[in-house]
Amino acid sequence: MSIKVVTIVGARPQFIKAAAVSRAIKNAGVERIREVLVHTGQHYDENMSKVFFDELDIPTPAYNLEISGGTHGVMTGRMLESIEKVLLEEKPDWVLIYGDTNSTLAGALAASKLNIPVAHVEAGLRSFNMCMPEEINRILSDRVSSLLLCPTQAAIDNLAKEGLVSGVHNVGDVMYDVALFYSERAKVQSRIKEQLGLEDNVYALATCHRAENTDDPKRLGEIMAGLAEISQELPVVLPLHPRTRKLLEDHGLSRHLNSLTVVEPLAFLDMIALEQSARVILTDSGGVQKEAFFYGVPCITMRDETEWLETVELGWNTLVGASHQKIIDAFREMRTVRKDILEKPYGDGQASQQVLSRLLQA
Ligand code: UDP
Repeated sequence: MSIKVVTIVGARPQFIKAAAVSRAIKNAGVERIREVLVHTGQHYDENMSKVFFDELDIPTPAYNLEISGGTHGVMTGRMLESIEKVLLEEKPDWVLIYGDTNSTLAGALAASKLNIPVAHVEAGLRSFNMCMPEEINRILSDRVSSLLLCPTQAAIDNLAKEGLVSGVHNVGDVMYDVALFYSERAKVQSRIKEQLGLEDNVYALATCHRAENTDDPKRLGEIMAGLAEISQELPVVLPLHPRTRKLLEDHGLSRHLNSLTVVEPLAFLDMIALEQSARVILTDSGGVQKEAFFYGVPCITMRDETEWLETVELGWNTLVGASHQKIIDAFREMRTVRKDILEKPYGDGQASQQVLSRLLQA
């Protein structure tokens, strides 16, 4: 008998993770499992949404809720109301959620209130910083999930400390599946390096979008000054998140962009093509930290903590907070490219298959 899964996505990293699992679900066949995709609309920008569906072959969403903007309360509340309607209509066996955004939490709440079991991909991650909206979303989503599909042993340990042991599985990281699946395709198809006039190993790639950095003018100023200083020695490519662009203007910090190669948010294949050939990656993104690791590129993380401890413990990632000086110090130490990662803390590239198996077995 076929089971029905409603998958909730809304933001860029969720499209990427869902791409891998949706492919596994499709390959399993509709006689075993059917997926109904719901896009909340959280990221609606063409460059942060539509291109991902086209490029990653994600099924067209059956529902597009078109909910974006507003405060966290407004956005999450509106999503909760709309997702509940979808779930009442679809009556799925499972609701599948990803990561740590407002779409994740809204999906978890809507489903659990209707007693529909929730499967959370990327369960158990913690920054232990309750000021982060993502941390609140993760903790609450995990608490109401029946299947906690963890990417790492550290995530399993975090859940155990919170008393969550039932339905907990280390399935590996679906982002690793994605990084492997698309790496060659990106090298062949992407023209972004030619378009930007970049040579392998002779540029840095940077991203900055996390609220703790963008909403605080001091932190954002330190980060931008650090990137601007690096750009005196090495071109720095910055695909600029629309939130960050707006806040740079609001905080009067746009001048720091002058020496950088600023581009619109990139399509995924262009992004990973740039990652693979960068000399160093500077970021506050969770996904980009790991992609740097998967591709053997040194990473400087502009945050005070990380959920991806393995990348730091194995010597590939340096946490620098939002300090101009620490960014520069880390840059000086990490300029040698190392491509010889032997350790595999994120599984074997079969995480999406594991997610599928757990859904079918549960
Ligand atoms: N990404 C992308 N284009 C960009 C910036 C990021 O395709 O211009 C991809 C990146 O390769 C990674 C994912 O988006 O797979 C990370 O998403 P984001 O940084 O928005 O969220 P986080 O991982 O921090 O939750």
